[in-house]
Amino acid sequence: MPAPVRLFVASANPGKLREYQVLAAGRPLELALLPGLDRLPRFEENAPTFAENAAGKALHYSRFVEPPVIADDSGLVVPVLGGAPGVQSARYAGAGASDADQVRKLLEEMRGKSGGERRARFVCVLALAERGRLRAVFSDSADGELLAAPRGSQGFGYDPIFFYPPLGRTFAELPPEEKNVHSHRGKAFRKLLVFLDT
Ligand code: IMP
Repeated sequence: MPAPVRLFVASANPGKLREYQVLAAGRPLELALLPGLDRLPRFEENAPTFAENAAGKALHYSRFVEPPVIADDSGLVVPVLGGAPGVQSARYAGAGASDADQVRKLLEEMRGKSGGERRARFVCVLALAERGRLRAVFSDSADGELLAAPRGSQGFGYDPIFFYPPLGRTFAELPPEEKNVHSHRGKAFRKLLVFLDT
């Protein structure tokens, strides 16, 4: 059995770490939150693309530690809204707004839209960097349709209004293991696992 690969996750969010740990279960991978992240110079995620934010964040934080660093950026892209909420997904209804507020705001913007106009896509870009060098960037997506009202109580963010046609349920109606099989983040992370050959 090879020695486990140690990776730091450039996030202050223990929920995100747990999600990645579940995805890496059974693999020789040791994932930990990047220690002391809040005392390091902050990376501002202001770029217009998920890729720039993920790569920039991984590169930035990789300059402060030895082990490789992974960072992601994700969000919901709604073509009829010109790609919004997109990279603004976490703050669509304003900084500090709750998930319920973001969902409400999106439902308001979608009022009167029907059929193909309700298409939406979750996107996740995941970057791997080591000591100031970008090693790889992976991205994946999940295609669905926006409901007019929330359904389901699992997941987070826009999951309750994201209806996933292949399963006939919203992401908030899926147990985490099932969401991981189909989600943008799960699929992008599995590409990283293939790259690392773990
Ligand atoms: P970040 O990648 O942590 O910046 O999160 C971006 C935002 O996109 C989240 O706060 C959610 O609003 C939204 N988002 C990203 N992935 C998901 C998901 O799997 N389900 C629901 N919302 C998501």
